[in-house]
Amino acid sequence: MTEKTKQEYQVIIIGGGPAGLTAGLYTSRARLSSLLIERGLVGGQIADAELVENYPGFAQGISGLELGQLMHQQATKYGLNTVIAEVTGIELKGEEKVVKTTKSDFTTKAVIIASGSERRKLGIPGEENLTGRGVSYCATCDAPFFKDKPVAVVGGGNAAITEALYLAKFASRVIVIHRRDQLRASRILEERALAEPKIEFQWNSVVEGIEGEEMVKRLSLHQVTTGKKSTLDVAGVFIAIGLKPNTDFLKGVLPLDEAGYIITNDKMETELPGIFAAGDIRQNSPRQAITAAGDGATAAIFAEKFISQ
Ligand code: NAP
Repeated sequence: MTEKTKQEYQVIIIGGGPAGLTAGLYTSRARLSSLLIERGLVGGQIADAELVENYPGFAQGISGLELGQLMHQQATKYGLNTVIAEVTGIELKGEEKVVKTTKSDFTTKAVIIASGSERRKLGIPGEENLTGRGVSYCATCDAPFFKDKPVAVVGGGNAAITEALYLAKFASRVIVIHRRDQLRASRILEERALAEPKIEFQWNSVVEGIEGEEMVKRLSLHQVTTGKKSTLDVAGVFIAIGLKPNTDFLKGVLPLDEAGYIITNDKMETELPGIFAAGDIRQNSPRQAITAAGDGATAAIFAEKFISQ
């Protein structure tokens, strides 16, 4: 990581996932002084993926962690600076933008917001206090702890089925609990899950509570079509019910849609001149590493044009 060396940059990029890292590669190669601010590991959500099979150029697939690190190395080679800090707000001072962080304030002409999204929580009893003790949001990170043990996955989208397939390599049983009677996941993932003998489905069911003292022991379930209540003994529960955009620091700065996503045009411009958005943070993003990287490149190209005007 390169630590901050100064307080003023031509471009500041918020978020170090594929969108932010690609934006940083482009702005650095355009010889703009560029700072990327990331609060955790570079790579963003892709860093949690065991194997990324749909990023072009890696015919055998690549681990998400390695892909993120390679993108960061590539951008750093051209001069991208990185600081690890949380962005707390953006202040507009005439044409200048002040990006406030937990470490320092930075001034810039252009901001590219690529802060992505994070996993949604169920908000049920037991979820918070048993997180890290059987409740998880990342199978790639935690699946090996559940070797030969039964686990549940909550959700019916691509994330839930990807998690279930990965967990099936370790767990004795994987029970996918979904609130409807059909999945939202892509066909290919659904077919793989249906063909995996360790994966079972509990349809039309919601989890009402997670029980256990030291570790997760059981889930209380509610079958929505019959009204029947039941319990399910599991050692772990993986929650994969969608994403929440990381835009809290933008409230009052930029208009957001109802779900909290940023609205842009096809140049990645927001309503505010000099503020761009790229990747999962955008309204209607397809939320793929490759589309996020494409957004990052587009945002950087138009940020460069904005600065040179
Ligand atoms: P998603 O596609 O929005 O699916 C969320 C799932 O959680 C839905 O099945 C939804 O049920 C369920 N859900 C939402 N709130 C719930 C609640 N309170 N209680 C119970 N269930 C709830 O989200 P995602 O699966 O996290 O995927 C996010 C994006 O990343 C998608 O665009 C996805 O395609 C992409 N992604 C792709 C891959 C891949 O291609 N390998 C892997 C992971 C993610 P309903 O269906 O009833 O709404």
